[in-house]
Amino acid sequence: MFDVHSHFVPRRVLEWLELNQARVPMTLDERVPGKDPFLTVNGKWSFELKRTFFDPAAYLAEQSDAGITHTLVSPIPQLFLYDFPADITTAASELYNGELADWVQSNGERLSGLGTIPLNAPEQAAQTLRAALDLGLKGVIIGPGHQGIPLSDERFRPVWEAADDAGAIVFIHPLLNDDPRIQRLMMPNLIGVPWETTICALDLILGGVLDKYPNVKVLLAHGGGFLPYQVGRLTQGYSVWPAIRNAIQAPPAEYLRRMWYDSVLWDERSLDYLQSVVGVERVLPGSDYPFDLRVWPPMLTNEDAVRSFLNI
Ligand SMILES: [Zn+2]
Repeated sequence: MFDVHSHFVPRRVLEWLELNQARVPMTLDERVPGKDPFLTVNGKWSFELKRTFFDPAAYLAEQSDAGITHTLVSPIPQLFLYDFPADITTAASELYNGELADWVQSNGERLSGLGTIPLNAPEQAAQTLRAALDLGLKGVIIGPGHQGIPLSDERFRPVWEAADDAGAIVFIHPLLNDDPRIQRLMMPNLIGVPWETTICALDLILGGVLDKYPNVKVLLAHGGGFLPYQVGRLTQGYSVWPAIRNAIQAPPAEYLRRMWYDSVLWDERSLDYLQSVVGVERVLPGSDYPFDLRVWPPMLTNEDAVRSFLNI
């Protein structure tokens, strides 16, 4: 079994975080008896830093126990650090990518990896992306934009060009939504996270990113958020509004079939529906391991599709 949505933090990255607390505020606090400490970076998005996040042996043992033979490992979104000066984000990204690449390389049969890039400094991000690929990583994981600016914005062109030149994977992973209406009871995660993906995916379609950069392998988290469910609305908008038809080269449903989706949906009905909209070969097994909201093990196998996606 394969898994394309999984997270890991190399120990040296956690050490870097401790050493740089003056510039990157972080806390690690015992919050719930019997649980591991919770890590909070920059006052946002606390999560239980389970041992499997940073202990390579524990991580690999749990993969084996679950029957997972190959995992695409990503950095954690809490450490994208886009809100910091570019030199900080770049230093953290380079350290993260180097450490992850070393680990992946020494477990080549079992692991592939994605890097993180300083999206807050797009020229540098393109350079960090190229360097990550040179290290043997398969692409990058990025947030759905930065400071409210969507990924189709001209400023991100260097990133898309670099990814397109290399046919790299760009895994779009949502961050928490800060809409004031949903700041309680985990709503930023329950519904805000898939909403962020929904906005981002439609922006990639209508903003022409998929037309301009057809070689990029765009992977959307959590089954593509809510967008696949609204394929009928998108199609109707395309047929009745010339502005939409003029903005893109094909009906929206066709663009949905040009991206890849993980299977982090829990519900077989949602998974069946997604496969029927975007094609079975576009839905890849994922777990979001080791976060609380994980599907463990993944709901799908689809090994041939993953092999072709990862080029392995
Ligand atoms: Zn995730």
